[in-house]
Amino acid sequence: MRVPVQRLLNAVLALIYPECCQICRQARATPSEGFVCSACRADSRFIEPPFCRRCGLPFSGQIDSDFECSNCLGMTWHFESARSAVYAKGVVLDVIHRYKYKQQLWFEPFLADLLISRACGSSVVAQPVTGGSFSMGVLSPGDWDWLLPIPLHPMKQREREFNQAERLARRLSVASGIPLKTNILKRIVATRTQTRLSREERAENVRKAFALNDKEDVAGKRLVLVDDVLTTGATTNACAHVLRRGGAASVCVWTVARGT
Ligand SMILES: [Zn+2]
Ligand SMILES: [Zn+2]
Repeated sequence: MRVPVQRLLNAVLALIYPECCQICRQARATPSEGFVCSACRADSRFIEPPFCRRCGLPFSGQIDSDFECSNCLGMTWHFESARSAVYAKGVVLDVIHRYKYKQQLWFEPFLADLLISRACGSSVVAQPVTGGSFSMGVLSPGDWDWLLPIPLHPMKQREREFNQAERLARRLSVASGIPLKTNILKRIVATRTQTRLSREERAENVRKAFALNDKEDVAGKRLVLVDDVLTTGATTNACAHVLRRGGAASVCVWTVARGT
């Protein structure tokens, strides 16, 4: 629905700011680069091993084999693994806010590229120095049935006019070859904004926020939840819980950025 509007915006923007980076407003950047120049792109920090094999939380130290972080030890996760492409910091965080809350959709190719480059990249990153290896959780079409974006409540979607998770998942679906399904999960409670809540409050806030569409069957399906940012994991965990209760065989999570 919004794609023609986005194209129009891109065209108008190209007239006003002819292929100019929308971060530094100096260097050249094209629409296909999401109007972020190579110097500003270089500010994005990809998440590299070592990280928690479950929740993907990066760890700044020498660990050469799979481990679960201390956060995960006290949690009941309903997904097998969560992975993110980059840290939610600097240019990336700024772009996500402007994309999501100010509808600056021309940034989308930049965010989608970060996600795709990691989620569709090489499968295992070997650690030649230590000999250990970490599963990057790379998506291949034979391993997964559907990509599912985290849904917005219909009221919020009307307000924002688009669901960022759905738009990013659509691009990931094209790149990965894994079909996108947008009608499986629904958000039935318009939850308060999560940003000022503690980990426990977030979990409580979203516990009953999601449901399955009765007409859809997820039994035996291998599913990938997609969102823009993962912070405490409470929202994705609530979705994964609903899917597993519905009989899904496995659920993993991919997001563009990881908040800490
Ligand atoms: Zn720039
Ligand atoms: Zn963890």
